[in-house]
Amino acid sequence: MYNTVYLKKGKEESLGRFHPWVFSGAIHHIDGRPEEGDVVRVLSADGRFLAVGHVQIGSIAVRVLSFEDITIGRDFWYQRLSTAYDVRKSIFKQWTSGEGEPTNAFRLVHGEGDGLPGLVIDVYDRTAVMQAHSVGMHVSRHEIADALAEVLDGVVENIYYKSENTLAYKASEDGGNGFLKGGIATADDIAVENGLRFHVDWLGGQKTGFFVDQRENRALLERYSHGRKVLNMFCYTGGFSFYAMRGGAELVHSVDSSSRAIDITRANVELNFPGDARHEAYAEDAFKYLDRMGDQYDLIILDPPAFAKHKDALRNALIGYRKLNAKAFEKIRPGGILFTFSCSQVVTKDNFRTAVFTAAAMSGRRVRILHQLTQPADHPVSIYHPEGEYLKGLVLYVE
Ligand code: SAH
Repeated sequence: MYNTVYLKKGKEESLGRFHPWVFSGAIHHIDGRPEEGDVVRVLSADGRFLAVGHVQIGSIAVRVLSFEDITIGRDFWYQRLSTAYDVRKSIFKQWTSGEGEPTNAFRLVHGEGDGLPGLVIDVYDRTAVMQAHSVGMHVSRHEIADALAEVLDGVVENIYYKSENTLAYKASEDGGNGFLKGGIATADDIAVENGLRFHVDWLGGQKTGFFVDQRENRALLERYSHGRKVLNMFCYTGGFSFYAMRGGAELVHSVDSSSRAIDITRANVELNFPGDARHEAYAEDAFKYLDRMGDQYDLIILDPPAFAKHKDALRNALIGYRKLNAKAFEKIRPGGILFTFSCSQVVTKDNFRTAVFTAAAMSGRRVRILHQLTQPADHPVSIYHPEGEYLKGLVLYVE
């Protein structure tokens, strides 16, 4: 039987609203001595069952797996994963209808949004890349991989586990990253997004190897690219760049501080547009490049890494977004379009908009909001966990 966490009187309210986290300050006492990553039952002060979840060290003490009094085992993982897959089948109608451009890179599990806090699974063609953000998911990884292999039978051959960056100390204790199933895939495997092809570097790349969350925003960018001079700042593996090229951009410059990312960007552009002289890529710091560049660009993408990983970093992050956007407003050509993003979970839509507003005001330019962007449907947000909406974007027309 699972150990029991008793909440303080009155602290059961957020669980009553299905919010999936228990903060350490809400806990009265714990019966037994659970280890980090164990499943625990959460009870109210008067002994009423509330939830089962993974216990962890830190301000979030329990991440809820179920509000029903169940055992967390094969059936649980299978059900959650197969529901997640059903959701994706309704999102990606083209898988069955055959209409539209093919896409075989998608997020199968988006943490709380799929009732699996602490777990991310991205699928790239025949390979699923699994990432644990909690010790509980790490401890359960083999059970999850077994259920995943059943759910995606015939769809994927390989399951690669990649948690060295999200759970450094645990992953190194237990042998680090590696294949839990299959393993014939190499870093050269190619996935398809809206008909464009790219190498996915799941062995060495950031996150699970590619940023699938920008898929729809890239497609929107394509529609604005015709005849424009494009700067893709923080390009990583070049996602926005090859959409801009397909959209008919006059030139596309990709910039990232990581030279490995720049190498992959070049390879991806080559894969889709061999020998196309419109593209150039630079391994350089964003602020340095923005300072030294001229004023030729009339379409700029700013998709920086999360400036705030924690609440404490919020103030500095907002200053960072303001400074970055100010540079773009300063240099973008009249009639230019700016795609600007924040992927920091703690930065709200309003925070971000205020930072960009301040940058615009500093530049004195007339700026209109054309689109307000977010993450795509395969990164769903639980209605009970609005914090799950992490990606915010604005498309701006700069007069
Ligand atoms: N737009 C990308 C994802 C960007 S992720 C896509 O569509 O796939 C953020 C990127 O910013 C990473 O590749 C990281 O290497 C890069 N980066 C981080 N700090 C940077 C800096 N100071 N200057 C330039 N690039 C930076």
